[in-house]
Amino acid sequence: MKKLISGIHRFRDRYWSEYREVFEHLAANGQNPDALFITCCDSRLDPTFLTRAKPGDLFVVRNMGNFVPPYREGQPDVTGVGAAVEYAVDFLRVKDIIVCGHTDCGSVKALYDDRARYEEGRTPHIAEWLKLGDRTLRVVAAGYPDLGHEERLAVAFEENVLVQLENLCTYPVVQRAISEGLLHVHAWFFHIASGTVYDYNPAMEQYEPIHYERKGPKG
Ligand SMILES: [Zn+2]
Repeated sequence: MKKLISGIHRFRDRYWSEYREVFEHLAANGQNPDALFITCCDSRLDPTFLTRAKPGDLFVVRNMGNFVPPYREGQPDVTGVGAAVEYAVDFLRVKDIIVCGHTDCGSVKALYDDRARYEEGRTPHIAEWLKLGDRTLRVVAAGYPDLGHEERLAVAFEENVLVQLENLCTYPVVQRAISEGLLHVHAWFFHIASGTVYDYNPAMEQYEPIHYERKGPKG
């Protein structure tokens, strides 16, 4: 806790003066974020840190496993993800939605655990939550039937992002905004050990590293 409090002091001492005008503008005009960023709770993946976004740039949803419950007519979503998606698209008019997963995701690993231990223990909410990853299990089992546990996990970390992106695209507000050319959706994957962020290329059916091309000297 001391570390967090001293962080607040540093924020006030060093960064506040730098960002004062940004915050004053945001306070006076409200938020107008560019993108909705849906990612995992994992402490190693920080969307703002990763993208060097400024306050006001990103509308962020985080949950364990970056799960997006599919839209169900007549069955309101109570996880809060659906409401955030609708608000971001229909009210904030974000231009992009990113679903970002990562290596070594504990939630994806937990999908393959003996789930009974969550149900029988003191963590019934975890057991219920993990059901949102069941489709990932089915997709991986169908597409990669012969993999060993570690290889299967590596595939599942990445496939889970694509499954959740598909779920995202079941929301009518998302479908409408995409069809009107107002919204683009992206599957990103963060490799923790190398610090590399990958973007899924649907045409190539593979993740490709997002490269920053440095501008060389002129001439
Ligand atoms: Zn995770």
